[in-house]
Amino acid sequence: MAFQLHDNIQFVPGVGPKRAKLLNKLGVKTVKDLLFYFPRDYLNKISDKRIADLKINDIASVKGRITDFNTKESRFQKQQFRVFISDGTGYLTLMWFRPSPWLIKQFEVGKEIYILGKIQYYYNKLCMIHPDFEIRQLADKEKKSFWVEQDILPLYHLTEGISNKVLRKIIRTVLSQDLFLDETIPTYIRDSKQLMPLNEALHKIHIPDSNEDMAASRKRFVFEELFFLELMLARKKVNWHKASGYSMDLKKTYTTKLKKALPFTLTNAQKRVLNEIVEDMKSSHQMNRLLQGDVGSGKTIISIFAMLLAIENDFQAAIMAPTEILATQHYFSLKEFLENFGLRVELLLGGVYAGKEETKAAIESGDVNIVIGTHSLIQKDVNFHKLGMVVIDEQHRFGVMQRLTLTQKGQTPDKLIMSATPIPRSLALTVYGDLDVSIIDELPPYKKEIYTNWISSDKKSQVYDFIKKQLNGGRQVYIVCPLVEESEKSIRQLADATNTYKELQETVFSKFNVGLLHGRMSNQEKDEIMHAFKEHKIDVLVSTTVIEVGIDVPNATIMMIEHAERFGLSQLHQLRGRVGRGAHKSYCVLVVYEPISEEAMIRLNTLKETNDGFRISEVDLELRGPGEFFGTKQSGLPAFRIANIVRDRPILEDARKLAFEIIQNDYNLDDEVNRELKEKYKKYYLKREKLFSY
Ligand code: ADP
Ligand code: MG
Repeated sequence: MAFQLHDNIQFVPGVGPKRAKLLNKLGVKTVKDLLFYFPRDYLNKISDKRIADLKINDIASVKGRITDFNTKESRFQKQQFRVFISDGTGYLTLMWFRPSPWLIKQFEVGKEIYILGKIQYYYNKLCMIHPDFEIRQLADKEKKSFWVEQDILPLYHLTEGISNKVLRKIIRTVLSQDLFLDETIPTYIRDSKQLMPLNEALHKIHIPDSNEDMAASRKRFVFEELFFLELMLARKKVNWHKASGYSMDLKKTYTTKLKKALPFTLTNAQKRVLNEIVEDMKSSHQMNRLLQGDVGSGKTIISIFAMLLAIENDFQAAIMAPTEILATQHYFSLKEFLENFGLRVELLLGGVYAGKEETKAAIESGDVNIVIGTHSLIQKDVNFHKLGMVVIDEQHRFGVMQRLTLTQKGQTPDKLIMSATPIPRSLALTVYGDLDVSIIDELPPYKKEIYTNWISSDKKSQVYDFIKKQLNGGRQVYIVCPLVEESEKSIRQLADATNTYKELQETVFSKFNVGLLHGRMSNQEKDEIMHAFKEHKIDVLVSTTVIEVGIDVPNATIMMIEHAERFGLSQLHQLRGRVGRGAHKSYCVLVVYEPISEEAMIRLNTLKETNDGFRISEVDLELRGPGEFFGTKQSGLPAFRIANIVRDRPILEDARKLAFEIIQNDYNLDDEVNRELKEKYKKYYLKREKLFSY
């Protein structure tokens, strides 16, 4: 029954066409794919705890016997399947919602069972919800089975029709062939980093004999995955730095003029960051820099300095923002800052409107010095005379290609990418791996802590009373609702901006001007509302999340968020950043509708406790995991097979350091000691290197 690494999985004994199809769904097409289909976790019979010792929030492996089970309809008409087990020291309830008939069939009173899961309280009982489990079969042939003897059982991501048992058996069959794979990490690296050899690690990650095997095999693959990624990033970065760009001179005409005209002094963090940018622009390489800073930390003014530096050197500059509201606001603040500069600043929006063609012509002829726009900037028919500086605001809203397209409107423009989602520095280095990173980690003095609290929806009238007081004092208020209309049944209970608006205008706030802003309005309507709010013709602005980025109204002092339990942590923080921009004390009130999940509780309390964007993003990252947090596709971050860049941060930093050292000395990996690296790199990373780009 010989088969080779690159053979179709179908031909492995025990697979066949039907299972092969299911395995394909999991991304497993060949024998080799299967070897690299790593367990997501393990059920560990060694580390078993006594039920009596379990505490809430423990993640535990437990061994017990099934004493009873039943199904019941709950109050929410969700079917519940409950299994009761005992180990002689206590009882534990296992619980499944909407169980499949297949699941129910597994259980039999008296059978021995191993479970892995998180201990929770449910109706005052210790329980595990949807745990992993393994029932020990009593049949004779099972008794002799390999896995019954095995202490640590791998658990895989599955698809309907393929169980852990089946997968384990197939993988074991493949492993028993001792197919030999070529090592991909040179000996000198394995020795210095104490990494298991490839073939041994492949074996042990699927069939570990001990906790040490489990950890060591995993570490090898985590390191490998991150290390090759970092090799790629290192090469990209070295490339960037070699690529020739414009060397600009700090001529101090417009830049100094702006410095003198500013109504405030730059914070130390702003000065430092500006220095880093100016050095980049003066150097002969193309700037490719990420500017990170919390909402309101003053990124925009920094980008204006950078643009003026380009203009001093006879270049044009462009700034691209994700929404028209934001672009429009940038436009007005630029106009204000640059009023007496004799520069032509233009706004380019989407669609067809009077004057647009003329604007485009002036961009092409070089008459326009600075253009601000949305995706409108990357349309085919927008051409620049001499684009030297590109600013991209809220970078996560744009795809890799969009950012690239804008840069390609010039020859080698310097590029500044801005992000208001702060992430820890070491992670920024990987996620934005080939960029240089500047961080504004200090808020301007005018930014005060925003007092934040959450309150149950049945006490909303107290919030309204408080709002009225602020309104009577001359302040303005945002009320954010999650949805525009009652479109879907499942979300019908969500507060609806349109209804909220009508109701508030007619009742609670009838003495004030209430305005409505939502994503389905035309751009012109949105603009009008925004300006009315800015000019205080509107007191209370009811809105959907379209105000997430952009609006800057210093007189607004309350941000009230309906259904705050439904929002993500970073999003809430961004929304909150819309207030606290003026001289008055500001508040963020989170209105929650119970019951709320444990995770939502953590989000709400985090916001209440801190205004620090970096701290908030760390919690958010922990809660959502890196995949969700970064939005893999948009960030250009590859999907990881095994590494978790949050949990594996020490390995990540280690791998990064080594990768950069190697690339500095041996860019093409030509050195004989790096032969293994070169082979794998050529095969899997060279192509990606070209795609992975800012
Ligand atoms: P960001 O883009 O980082 O969210 P902005 O650049 O929009 O922040 O700055 C928010 C507000 O703070 C703007 O009105 C800006 O003019 C002002 N600002 C920027 N830097 C300072 C500073 N050093 N001192 C006082 N105000 C500042
Ligand atoms: Mg901004």
